[in-house]
Amino acid sequence: MKTEKGRRIKPISIAVMGCLVIAVILTIGTIGLGRVANNDTQSAVRNVSLLYLSELAGRREQVVSSVLDDYIRDMDVAVGMLSEEDLRSVEDLQDYQFKMKQLYDLDKFAFIDTEGVIYTSRGTRDDIDLYSIDYLNLSEPEISVKNLRSNDKKVVIALPVDNLKLEDHTLVVCFMEIDMDNLLRNVSIQSNNNTTFCNIYTSEGVALTDMVLGGLASEDNLLEAMGHADYEKGYSEERFLQDFEEGRSGEVSFSYNGISETLYYVPVHGTEWMLTYLIRESIIGEQINSISQSIIVRSTIQSILTALALIGMFTLLLMQQRKAAKEALDHEVSETENRVRQQELEEQLAMQEELASKSEELEDALQAAEDANRAKSGFVSNMSHEIRTPITAILGMNEMIRRESNDENILSYADNISNAGESLLGIISDILDFSKIEAGRMELSIESYSPTELIGDLYNLIRFRAEAKGLKLSFNIDHAIPKGLVGDELRVKQIITNLLTNAVKYTEKGDVSLEVRCVEKDTESNRAKLLITVADTGIGIRAEEMDKLFVPFDRLDVSRTRSIEGAGLGLSITRQLLHLMDSELQVESIYDQGSRFYFSIWQGISDPKEIGDYKPSSALKVRRNTRNGKRYFTAPGRHILVVDDMPMNLQVLTGLLKRSEMIIDTASGGEDCIYKFGENDYDLVFLDYRMPGMDGIETLHRLKDRYPDKVARTPIIALTASAILGDKERLLNEGFTAYLAKPVVIADMEEMMSRFLGDIQEESMPAASDISEEVQPVSQDITPDDTDEIPQAVRDMEELDPEKGLEYCGDAEDYVFALQTYAESVEDKAAALEEALKEDRTDDYVLIVHSLKSMSKSIGAQRLYEQAKVLEEAGREGRTDTINEGTEAFVSEYRALGAKLSKELL
Ligand code: ADP
Repeated sequence: MKTEKGRRIKPISIAVMGCLVIAVILTIGTIGLGRVANNDTQSAVRNVSLLYLSELAGRREQVVSSVLDDYIRDMDVAVGMLSEEDLRSVEDLQDYQFKMKQLYDLDKFAFIDTEGVIYTSRGTRDDIDLYSIDYLNLSEPEISVKNLRSNDKKVVIALPVDNLKLEDHTLVVCFMEIDMDNLLRNVSIQSNNNTTFCNIYTSEGVALTDMVLGGLASEDNLLEAMGHADYEKGYSEERFLQDFEEGRSGEVSFSYNGISETLYYVPVHGTEWMLTYLIRESIIGEQINSISQSIIVRSTIQSILTALALIGMFTLLLMQQRKAAKEALDHEVSETENRVRQQELEEQLAMQEELASKSEELEDALQAAEDANRAKSGFVSNMSHEIRTPITAILGMNEMIRRESNDENILSYADNISNAGESLLGIISDILDFSKIEAGRMELSIESYSPTELIGDLYNLIRFRAEAKGLKLSFNIDHAIPKGLVGDELRVKQIITNLLTNAVKYTEKGDVSLEVRCVEKDTESNRAKLLITVADTGIGIRAEEMDKLFVPFDRLDVSRTRSIEGAGLGLSITRQLLHLMDSELQVESIYDQGSRFYFSIWQGISDPKEIGDYKPSSALKVRRNTRNGKRYFTAPGRHILVVDDMPMNLQVLTGLLKRSEMIIDTASGGEDCIYKFGENDYDLVFLDYRMPGMDGIETLHRLKDRYPDKVARTPIIALTASAILGDKERLLNEGFTAYLAKPVVIADMEEMMSRFLGDIQEESMPAASDISEEVQPVSQDITPDDTDEIPQAVRDMEELDPEKGLEYCGDAEDYVFALQTYAESVEDKAAALEEALKEDRTDDYVLIVHSLKSMSKSIGAQRLYEQAKVLEEAGREGRTDTINEGTEAFVSEYRALGAKLSKELL
């Protein structure tokens, strides 16, 4: 049950309240009923009393009148026994009287004569006045009272006798006296409980006993007392007095002195008396009241006890019910628990089954995902090759445009294409990295490395970019960094390069700085903790964009960075690489004021000596790059120019030099070379000797004329296919710093660079002998693995000698790249060669066949190389027969190889 407030009332309270209500109802009912019963009892008692009163009064009257009749009869008998002898003298009469007195137990047995003289057994008396006997006229028995006004009242019964002669007197009446007590002996005057009183009154209201109204009245006369009574409804004094006067029986209810009474009266036969029967109703009422009260009290107690018993019963019932409910609930709960447990068990079982099948599915899915991932990675790396090929073609075409055109606008468009192409290549290598990381295939290659070399590389790499934008670049390197560290140098470098490149990219003015601190050394695990910070005063990052910083392909503040190159991958890769090294990239930035990127990494220690005071001036690092166990030449950030009229040569060279981490510009002819030389500060120039129009020597002269200072400090190396000694000397005499034979063997080229790039730094460089010790010709490093990486189809081509190709190109990837470039140019070259022959342009013919010779050699197409060599020499010597005979066979073989390569590689 709920009250308005929603509070629950306890069932026990309801039971108590219910029982109390029942108790109150019972009590009130009992009291009310008691009252009604009381009244009803009283009136019933009254009715019954009245019935019995007449009965009782009648009986008593019979008693009294029969006593009187008995006395009269006795007197009759006694008078009948009177003989003449007894009347002879007064004395005889006295004897007779004495005898009768004894015989009938009479107080007095006397005669009255006509004179009024009274003859008793003891003598005569003349106190006739005390009696009210009309002795002269008495004709029948008469009953009267002697001494009515005194306490010594006597009942007198007088009988007439027939003029009995005694001596001279005539006796006319005989009488006897009876004690009032004797008369009333058999009449109970007063009940034990003082509630009923019997009395006899004369018709004048004088009581034969001495009590009037049961002793209640102060008057000694009933009629007088009744004059002071208050009559109940239906009764009156007049009627009462009349009844008394006329000797009629009746009853009267009244209250005297506040006490209710009912008086029944009946005339006593043969007398003028009234026998009364009085009931004191007040007392009866009181008694009835007290009985009623006690009944009410008892009933009330009974009700309360009943109520208590009910409450007890209810409580017991409730408790029983609760207990039963609790047991039922407990039962239900335990059953529910069991059910739940069972259900759980079933669910667990089902789950286990499901898990088992799911895990199978998962394994399948994992397998599928791994397959898909492998396929994806394969696809991405294939794609990057696929994309690279057309880009290199585009760049090649672009070079053609640069060579052919003199139009400033077109040249600037071509420059833009070249820049965009280069950055596209950068993005593709980022995507490759990214997909490798995603596929979980990025693994760290832990080797010992020199931190100073790493920092030097970084410096050289970023220096030009910072300078080009007029930014101040500062490197702050802790002297406590150990000389030799162990870690993945390449990846560490990639990470810092990304941060530095970004810092330069997103800073228009001010500073870019790198700080490397050694913050902790753990001798036990032989490790050092480096804290690396790259800071700039650039555009900064909005706080609300910080979250997006590492989202791949997401770029921030697009309105400002749109014009800046980037794919939004750099930081994502950086962060992932740091995760691989158990580190996290931290960023602090104030928008429009600058940014600070920092991280700390633990690196092993291979040489605990400290690097000391180290300034990363642009020291050239010709060093062993240990990736894949091979040694490469690297000169990060160095800027070189390669000049060649053949775009394909340029492509091949650029491709081969890419791993040196240099910035490689290309020029497609003398004019282009002069223009670019003027624009940039190159560390080294490779200039092809044989070029159509302005050849290498003329170009060099013009450069000397226009930029004598620059030429003086820049090594310019001639590329020449003529192995003739004279040629070489001529070249050196003309002012070339050195020369290199074509086709270029990459190892030779790297050695050349390491020599000259080092020289101009005016820093302590390793001696030439050291260099040759350190930089081994690539060919010596070829491993069987490299040959394995070349597609089988290529290895199976009898026209090719892959090992020779690898000698020139360094590794399989570059070799395949060179083959692709070669295949792509076959059709154009073949057509150009045929055309030159047809049109008798011998010089052009020689130039084309010369480049075909070099290219064929560099890919290991030994037979084509030999053929081209013969044709070139014939061309130079004007042996047209040889040319006419040999060209067709050469071209068809050349085309056949091109077709085969295209089929396998393009
Ligand atoms: P992106 O190739 O676009 O530079 P990154 O992943 O290297 O890609 O950087 C993501 C974005 O973070 C950038 O596009 C640039 O908006 C912002 N950002 C990175 N470095 C800096 C910096 N040093 N100062 C300001 N913004 C930066």
